[in-house]
Amino acid sequence: PKNVKSDIEIAQAAKLKPIGEIAEQLGLEENDWEPYGNSKAKVFVKTLDKLRNQADGKIILVTSINPTPAGEGKSTVTVGLGQALNKIGRKTVIALREPSLGPTMGIKGGAAGGGYAQVVPMEDINLHFTGDFHAITAAHNALSAFLDNHLHQGNALHIDPQRIVWKRVLDLNDRSLRHVVIGLGGRVDGVPREDGFDITVASEIMAILCLSENLADLKQRLSRMLIAYTYEGDPVFVRDLKVEGALTLLLKNALHPNLVQTLENTPAFVHGGPFANIAHGCNSVLATKLGAKLGEFLVTEAGFGADLGAEKFLDITTRAGHFEPSAVVIVATIRALKMHGGLTKEELKTEDLKALMHGMENLACHIDTIKSFGLPYVVAINHFIFDTDREVKYIQEWCAAHHHPVALTKVWELGGDGGTELAQRVIDTIEKNEHHFKPLYSLTDSLESKIKTIVTKVYGGKDVDYSPKARKQLKDFAKYGWDQLPVCIAKTQYSLSDDPKLIGRPKDFTIHVRELKVSVGAGFVVVMTGNVLTMPGLPKHPAALNMNVDEGGKVTGLF
Ligand code: ADP
Repeated sequence: PKNVKSDIEIAQAAKLKPIGEIAEQLGLEENDWEPYGNSKAKVFVKTLDKLRNQADGKIILVTSINPTPAGEGKSTVTVGLGQALNKIGRKTVIALREPSLGPTMGIKGGAAGGGYAQVVPMEDINLHFTGDFHAITAAHNALSAFLDNHLHQGNALHIDPQRIVWKRVLDLNDRSLRHVVIGLGGRVDGVPREDGFDITVASEIMAILCLSENLADLKQRLSRMLIAYTYEGDPVFVRDLKVEGALTLLLKNALHPNLVQTLENTPAFVHGGPFANIAHGCNSVLATKLGAKLGEFLVTEAGFGADLGAEKFLDITTRAGHFEPSAVVIVATIRALKMHGGLTKEELKTEDLKALMHGMENLACHIDTIKSFGLPYVVAINHFIFDTDREVKYIQEWCAAHHHPVALTKVWELGGDGGTELAQRVIDTIEKNEHHFKPLYSLTDSLESKIKTIVTKVYGGKDVDYSPKARKQLKDFAKYGWDQLPVCIAKTQYSLSDDPKLIGRPKDFTIHVRELKVSVGAGFVVVMTGNVLTMPGLPKHPAALNMNVDEGGKVTGLF
């Protein structure tokens, strides 16, 4: 292979501009932002207000086929496309999620793009960055502390300790904290009860931070969060504890979008990072909106495949942010398509056109999904150096035969230069297509109808089956008006169905709804299918085993 450098070696060799220069390049003035060191900054929320009357740039959403263990490279293509658009003279800003320490230390390694398409400084971005996740963890656990203190101090609200729906969080993978007992010790040590930990990116506060339009909206949303039920069965909200002011205070700096740059000095906002299963899986709407104000184009990424991330971006995020994308890029790799066609990870290095042909079905489904939202799209083939020419030609011909715009993308290997074909295709698509974006369902549809719409139109399933518990919740939720919220389906990312083993494009399957959960503050009803982990565990050989820092502070093994 021509390129044998690791992501971190490439990142460490990069020549960063002082962040002030990047801000200036964007047209920001001195009091629009503040530096966090030399290479990071926070751009103030009020800056968006100032730019209110300025025209918006076009939003480009990057999504992908169903993830496989082969890796798809969505973040890499997002960064590379941003670099490429700048390269061909179109002022472009990127918006990405902040990585979570759990997956970084666990399986995934960092999440700041890869190869020659990365956001930097990657060590900071992948570790503590500007402290946003720590602030969210603190705010989340402060609420837990206020709640337990309320129980201890006489429980004036009649909260039933067995019906507390607010758990604690930590931004690490730690399976032994999934179920814990707290308040042990004696009378002065609090009220004993069962509790548990989720990972910070699964916190409703993470979702709220990413959907809030400003500080006032943030406070409103925090005050609406459901935390428990009383002995009488009535819901208890944060506002009943009167702590929304304190929680907002803990988050006031975290709400400002973080500005960094790519290896090619393209401005990038990296802000917020909710899960794409139990939450909506996209960076903050503030970062997206700011980027769209400051650039001609804004490239953003949604988590997992188009069945999860893009559907939620288009049905949830666009409604919260009052914006819409002008085009969608669907990333696919030959490796992943071959896995959808039945190959194992070990078999990927040999050419296999038959497996590729079968795998195309998965891509076809996601293309149909984007079409059903009325949006134009481009298929991006994220090229790996051992893809064969015949395999590449096969996808290109398949796309041509079905009239799908497609571009071969080599941004991992070549940076922006490897993405100019994609950039040009995206621009052409936006300029040629008059799009008619429309969310898939209307908010006034019943919860069951919303779920059925997604299952049939996006997943290609036939039916939805509800557990007795979920059936009862459908009724209860309607009583409180929560049936008017959009739905956020928590499902395995590996399959269009709720069974991770059903790869490719399964047909005639039923989705099993185990339970519902309402995130009133974030503003959606989470629909739990299958077994969705909100506190992941570590693998036998965590990525952390390769990580180190030497006496001089040089980091290794973050990838
Ligand atoms: P996703 O956003 O889909 O999770 P990433 O962009 O984070 O994927 O990429 C996952 C990993 O795969 C990264 O370590 C990245 O360096 C690597 N990768 C991505 N694209 C390529 C490619 N074309 N060739 C080789 N490695 C790649």
